[in-house]
Amino acid sequence: MSLVVLNPATEQPIAELERAGVDEADAAVARAKAAFPAWRAVAPADRARLLRRLATLVEDHHEELAQLESRNVGKPISGARGEVGMVAQVFHFYAGAVDKHYGETIPVAGGIDVTFREPLGVVGLITPWNFPLNIASWKIGPALATGNTVVIKPAELTPLTTMRLGELALEAGIPEGVLNVVVGRGSTVGERLVEHPDVAKIGFTGSTDVGRRVMQGAATTIKRVTLELGGKSANIVFADADLEQAAAAAPYSVFDNAGQDCCARSRILVQKSVYDRFLDYLIDATRKVKVGDPADEATEMGPLISAEHLATVGSYVEGLSPAFRGEAPEGIGFWFPCTLIEATNDDRVAREEVFGPVAAVIPFEHEADAIRIANDTPYGLSGSIWTRDGSRAIRVARGVGAGVLSVNSNSSVRAHTPFGGMKQSGFGRELGMAGLDGYCDIKNVFISTEG
Ligand code: NAD
Repeated sequence: MSLVVLNPATEQPIAELERAGVDEADAAVARAKAAFPAWRAVAPADRARLLRRLATLVEDHHEELAQLESRNVGKPISGARGEVGMVAQVFHFYAGAVDKHYGETIPVAGGIDVTFREPLGVVGLITPWNFPLNIASWKIGPALATGNTVVIKPAELTPLTTMRLGELALEAGIPEGVLNVVVGRGSTVGERLVEHPDVAKIGFTGSTDVGRRVMQGAATTIKRVTLELGGKSANIVFADADLEQAAAAAPYSVFDNAGQDCCARSRILVQKSVYDRFLDYLIDATRKVKVGDPADEATEMGPLISAEHLATVGSYVEGLSPAFRGEAPEGIGFWFPCTLIEATNDDRVAREEVFGPVAAVIPFEHEADAIRIANDTPYGLSGSIWTRDGSRAIRVARGVGAGVLSVNSNSSVRAHTPFGGMKQSGFGRELGMAGLDGYCDIKNVFISTEG
């Protein structure tokens, strides 16, 4: 059955593909299994060289990949360029990490004890549609660096850059069968990878609901799983913060990628004593977000991913009177304007992951109240703290149950620092040296020196 891939800004087809099913998934796993012994045996310096070549090829194809990602996801070209830049950084980082992920020697009586980091085998990677190439690289980089082979299933809505990356990997000299891309439905290809006895681990990024099913499915074969799931992160603004700076930055922390960002700071918590003033600043800043054609260099926000998702996002604001509703193109394309809703933390818009350009603005009384509200969610992925009081910044950062926080900034994702969630935002870490741990088992070997 064929799969038509659309540009969400124009609703026009940009590719038509053969949709893979269970048989193709099984064939890809068989190829990856056959390629594993030789790939794990590649000398570390050579594996590093191959990953470095892939990073360089991504750089050489930077504009092509950015244009493809922009057209397929509807994301502004400026953002897509930044994301492809990060993909190259991620492969450079993991090329450099291949020979730096050491085992240990542990003092024991009667001999020596050493540990080895062993690759798992074939790993299944399942990725979402919002940052397709970026998230693919976060998983492929450490998986290949540690000697695993890969079957990756991108989201059906946005498979194009991952497919292109598969071609570039071959061009880089990474052997056939080491990186396999299979484009098909979650309910067929995804589930097959999860249950397949020859797949040792699933690295999953997506919604919490599907993550739960992945974890249940993996139980049958005791597969390792790492789960990067949804979020409902808080952007906490204290009265002593630089309010204008916090307000100017806030729209980009939730409306970036049209709000389709697991790290979206979609609950803006504001101390009551400065609430009205901050809301005025926030509305001014939100009005400035440039929404429109993703191909335009100046555009800051594009459309949502699909007609279905547009309807879901719209359901969160139905019947509400927004504090602010921006402008967006009308007619063709899945457009939704930047929207600010004054809310309590019990409202649906503050509890569920909207995954669109909708922010809930919520007042709080004092520091303990801010931490309580920030933590009153099943999620725990990201968040920001704005204050000029350094001690408070540390106290609140320690108090908020989220894996990736920033102080007086909304930036928290880098190739060389760990990324991942707490609570129902998932577990396991990607990026940085921590990202390697999810793709190895530790083997412990005791060697007797007696006799
Ligand atoms: P999704 O959960 O619907 O799909 C994610 C992937 O899982 C897709 O490739 C899909 O085809 C596949 N899938 C669907 N059903 C499956 C099944 N039964 N078995 C195996 N695979 C299956 O998510 P989405 O709509 O593509 O992406 C949006 C979600 O992803 C949001 O909740 C967002 O917060 C989350 N996300 C999290 C992070 C993070 O790092 N924490 C990053 C980006 C997106």
